[in-house]
Amino acid sequence: MLGLMQNWPLLIHRIIDHAAIQHGTREVVSRSVEGPIRRTTYAAIRQSALRIAKRLTREGIRLGDRVATLAWNTDRHLALWYGISGMGAITHTVNPRLFPEQIAQLINHAEDRLLFLDLTFVPLVEGLQDKLPSVERYIVLTDAAHMPETSLRDAIAYEDWLAEADADFAWGEFDENTAAGLCYTSGTTGGPKGVLYSHRSNVLHAMGCAQPDYMGLSARTVVMPVVPLFHANSWSLAFSAPMTGAKLVMPGMKLDGASLLELLNDEKVTLTAAVPTVWLGLLQHLEATGGRLDTLKRVVIGGSACPRAMTEAFEKKYGVTVDHAWGMTEMSPIGSFCSIKPVYDGLEGDALYDLKVKQGHPQFGVEFRLTDDDGADLPWDGKTFGRLKVRGPAVAGAYYRHDQPIIDEHGFFDTGDVATIDPHGYMQVTDRSKDVIKSGGEWISSIELENLAIGHPDVAEAAVIGVAHPKWDERPLLVIVPKPGRTPGREEMLAFMTGKVAKWWLPDDVVLVEAIPHTATGKIQKTALREMFREYRLP
Ligand code: ADP
Repeated sequence: MLGLMQNWPLLIHRIIDHAAIQHGTREVVSRSVEGPIRRTTYAAIRQSALRIAKRLTREGIRLGDRVATLAWNTDRHLALWYGISGMGAITHTVNPRLFPEQIAQLINHAEDRLLFLDLTFVPLVEGLQDKLPSVERYIVLTDAAHMPETSLRDAIAYEDWLAEADADFAWGEFDENTAAGLCYTSGTTGGPKGVLYSHRSNVLHAMGCAQPDYMGLSARTVVMPVVPLFHANSWSLAFSAPMTGAKLVMPGMKLDGASLLELLNDEKVTLTAAVPTVWLGLLQHLEATGGRLDTLKRVVIGGSACPRAMTEAFEKKYGVTVDHAWGMTEMSPIGSFCSIKPVYDGLEGDALYDLKVKQGHPQFGVEFRLTDDDGADLPWDGKTFGRLKVRGPAVAGAYYRHDQPIIDEHGFFDTGDVATIDPHGYMQVTDRSKDVIKSGGEWISSIELENLAIGHPDVAEAAVIGVAHPKWDERPLLVIVPKPGRTPGREEMLAFMTGKVAKWWLPDDVVLVEAIPHTATGKIQKTALREMFREYRLP
C-alpha cells in the first residue's frame, strides 16, 4: 500500500521560491567582478532566475540541454543556477583554474550550447572559441557599460541579454530525478569525470547539510561561501543557504587574505567555508597585520585534510570554531563533518585536537562501509584502515557519458580514500589509495605526516610523498615551503616530529621548495609532486 501524502517533487526552484517568500528581504551581497560591492535579495534573485529561465527558453534552450558557466561566486552566478535548472536545463559549472585545453575538452564533452562567463575569462575564451563548436553564443556577466570589445561569437552583455525577458514565467514541471547540474571532478587522480546531479539529489543533500551538526545554517546565519560554485555546489551552500534564509556573502574573484577579511568583518559573516590553502592566506594576513575576526564564529575546512595547526590557530588565537569536513564531487559533495557528539563531551587540549583532525561522521543520507581489498567488512575500531565506500541519494551512481559501472553489487561507491572509522562513527582519512606510501609492505599515512610538519613554526606548507627505495620499496620524503625568511633544516624537522609518530614513519629526507603544485580546486597535486621528485635519490 502506498502512503497517501502529496507528491511534491524535490525541485531546486522550490528552494528559491521558499527563500523569496519566507526570506525575501534577506540580502545576497557580492564583491562584483567589476569592483564595487553589489547588494540584492532572495526575492530579487528569484525574479532574475525567472527572467533567465524565460530568456533561455527564447534562446531555444530545451529540457536537458547543457549551459556552461565560467564564473566566480556572485549573485549573478547564483541566479543563473536557479534560472537554468528551473527551466529544465543543466548548469555545467566549469572550473576556470583548469588548463585551457582541459576547459575546452570538458565543454566539448558536455556539448554546452551557451557559455556565461565573467569578464575575467573573456581573453581565455577568445583563445579557445575555435575549439568549442557546440557553443552557439557567449554571454558576458556584466552590463553594457563594462562590456569589452570582443571577438566572441554572438557575444552580448548579460544585463542586455536579460533585459529582453520579464519574469512572467512558470517554472518547468518535470520529474525530481531530472538532471540539474554537471560538475567534473578536478582529476587529481586520473582524468576528469562528469558528475550529473539531479534536482532530487541536490535538494536532499542541501537538507542534510543544513542540519546543526553539519553546515548548521539558520535564518540568522551570515554565510560566506569562499568555496566556489564550480567546486561541487559550493559544498551545498548554493542551495542550503537560500533554503534556510541565511544571508549570503559572495566574495567574487578576490580570494586573498586582505579581501576576505574585509568582507568577513564588513558584512558580519558568522560562517565561512573553503579549502585549507585559502585559510592559509587569511591566517598569514591576520598574523602579518594583527587583524581580528570580529563576528566569525565557525569556519568549515575541507577538500583536503585540515592541518591540526590550522584548527588550533583559528580556535586558540581567534576564537573561531573549526569544523573539519570531508567529501568529494561524486557526493554532491559533503560526506562528513567532524562536529562533537555527546560521547566526546569534555575533551580538552590535545585530546580535542586529536579528534578534530578526523574527517568526522556522515549526515543522514550518507552510509559508510569500510572494507579490505576483497570487499570484506573491516571493524570500526578507529585503528583498522581500509577502503572507504559510500552509498546514498546524493552519491553518484555513474559518470556522465561513461560506460564503466562505478558502484558495487550493494550499491556502494568506492571513494578511493583509505580510512579508519571509530566505534562512534568518526571517520579519518589516512590517504588517497593512490597517495599511500608503502614501506616494507606497511602503509604510512602521508596526511598524518603533513599534519605534523605544518605544526612547525617555520613551515608554511608541507607535503609528503613516497620515493623509491631499494630496500623498502618506498620511503617518505617531506617537501616543505618555508615561511618567508625561514630555513627549517632536515635535522630540526625530524627532531620536531620524533616521538609524535612511529619511528619508522619519519621521513627519510626533508627538501625545501619555493612552491608546491596545486590542483584546480586548491589541493596539493601529489602526481605533479611525485613527477618533480622522480629522479630524486634518498641520502
Ligand atoms: P578531485 O577528486 O577531482 O580532486 P574532489 O574535490 O571530489 O576532487 O576530491 C575528493 C577527495 O578529496 C576525497 O576523495 C579526499 O581524498 C579528498 N578530501 C576531501 N576532503 C578531505 C579532508 N577533509 N581530508 C582529507 N582528504 C579530503
